[in-house]
Amino acid sequence: MRETVLITGANRGLGLALANKFGGEDWQVLAGARADHGGLADLVKRFPHVSVVSLDVTDVDSVRNAARQVSERATGLDILINNAAIFPEEGTPPLAKLDLSDMHLQRTMDVNVLGPLRVTQQFLPLLERGQRKLILNVSSEAGSIADCRRKSQYAYCMSKAALNMQSRILQNDLGRKGFKVLAVHPGWMQTDMGGPDATVPPDVSAAGIFRLAMRHWDPSDEIYWDYRGNSLRW
Ligand code: NDP
Repeated sequence: MRETVLITGANRGLGLALANKFGGEDWQVLAGARADHGGLADLVKRFPHVSVVSLDVTDVDSVRNAARQVSERATGLDILINNAAIFPEEGTPPLAKLDLSDMHLQRTMDVNVLGPLRVTQQFLPLLERGQRKLILNVSSEAGSIADCRRKSQYAYCMSKAALNMQSRILQNDLGRKGFKVLAVHPGWMQTDMGGPDATVPPDVSAAGIFRLAMRHWDPSDEIYWDYRGNSLRW
């Protein structure tokens, strides 16, 4: 029987590259997306074992409905990849010029931190019935406090640091049930978020993340990695 993965934000960028990689490796892929810009339709045509699930990570009803839909298509879930995130343009100026009344901080936390928590909570029963019990949160080197050199980008960096903490707490809680939780930096990728100067094609990052996901993990192993398999400092 095929193993099953759910990927959030699977309609473009890294999410689409991950759906393509897992689909090509013959996994049953549940591609969570708010909308399709064409890439997912092509993927579904190529791989009949890839299907789309409507999923907005900021809307708990949407997440609940997605979990219900997936439970109708699969008996369990082996891997959950929390990939959906935003990088708010408004979040990059220095403190003096930052508009904290425009809600970009709250929006970023809602998508990048509470989003993965909502999805993990609603999909936990399915993950418990899966074999691998792997939760892979797509984080960033921007979430590392130890290696932080930035003087701005408060919203995004704070959100990824909080996602790292979320990953650690989940590992502490779920490790006894055989779960492994990872927080993975995917590299500076050539996506809408990474922009034109980025260096890593998303399919190269997706291949590295796939290799990480296929490792045998013990609950006591490190949590924070990059896509090439180097562990990162919190
Ligand atoms: P993109 O901006 O290219 O894509 C973001 C994805 O997230 C889209 O599919 C988007 O869907 C989805 N998304 C945003 N908000 C929501 C929501 N409320 N509900 C569901 N889906 C949503 O980003 P990347 O592919 O570059 O990034 C993927 C991951 O990698 C993110 O977690 C990011 O933080 C991380 N990362 C990226 C880096 C880079 O250089 N690009 C560097 C380090 C980390 P929609 O089309 O509907 O908006």
